[in-house]
Amino acid sequence: MYNSHMLTLSHIYKTYKNKSRLVNALNDINLTFPNNGLVFILGESGAGKSTLLNLITLRDKPSKGKIIIDDIDVNNLTNKDKANIRSSYFGIVFQDYNLIDDFTVYENIKFVLDLQNKSSNKSIVEDMLIKLSLPLDIIDEKVNNLSGGQKQRIAIIRALIKDSRVIVCDEPTGNLDNDNAYQLMDILKNIAKDRLVIVVSHDKTLANKYASRIIKINKGTIIDDTLSNDDNKNINNNNNNNKLAITKSHLSFKNTLLLSLLSFKKVIVRSILSFIALGISLGVFMCVGEILRYDE
Ligand code: ADP
Repeated sequence: MYNSHMLTLSHIYKTYKNKSRLVNALNDINLTFPNNGLVFILGESGAGKSTLLNLITLRDKPSKGKIIIDDIDVNNLTNKDKANIRSSYFGIVFQDYNLIDDFTVYENIKFVLDLQNKSSNKSIVEDMLIKLSLPLDIIDEKVNNLSGGQKQRIAIIRALIKDSRVIVCDEPTGNLDNDNAYQLMDILKNIAKDRLVIVVSHDKTLANKYASRIIKINKGTIIDDTLSNDDNKNINNNNNNNKLAITKSHLSFKNTLLLSLLSFKKVIVRSILSFIALGISLGVFMCVGEILRYDE
């Protein structure tokens, strides 16, 4: 039987064991996500949103309950398969963008395609830049030099370009001003026409304006789950027959080397700065000593 609901959480519990006590972060969560639509998960700080997001994207395991993706119970998968699903099935957009600042826009995007052994070329990235109303000439610009709104759109391109079935956004507008936040939500709303976009947020205004469904969570429990009127009709009807395809994630030698060099560069810069600071302190110390001796 074909199941049009590709992502289902069934009786999910998550308990964290702290030194002195147990924290029940999620209590009996039951959710079925459709194949498309813009779903907001709304809740105050501490409500359990990040915990839920980590479980949905298979970054963490529930203490109890089942997560089913395209009829597959992910509990039965090996860690390697889970990691592969995580990288091919989910595109994740973070509040702080999570881009590599020292890479250009193109290098940031190419990097994720390299990880999946997919070929990349500049014209595909240029098409995406146009779609997201970004100027073409930023393609060779270092990400460091872009505005927050531009960085967040590059993060979205990075999530989209690997053809992820689900785009998961963790407080994506948290670092953006109002104009940029609305522009970004317009883009996400558009993307959600043919794939599932899950936005975790505490922003009720954005949710009311853009969401096709709002799931409210409080103290680890779902307290409300409402479809918006506009989307009521079509949210569950887009039968997407793409079944779960697991692409192997692959970090090439070149990329491993690049990443090591980048972190090495940061260590070197930090060491040089510490060395200079030490030199200056010693210099000041010696000068003060000399002045005191001169006085004497
Ligand atoms: P939100 O994202 O809505 O702010 P979280 O999912 O981060 O909420 O947290 C839900 C509850 O679980 C909170 O009480 C938090 O303190 C607790 N919690 C989250 N992560 C951990 C952890 N790694 N260890 C212990 N407790 C945790």
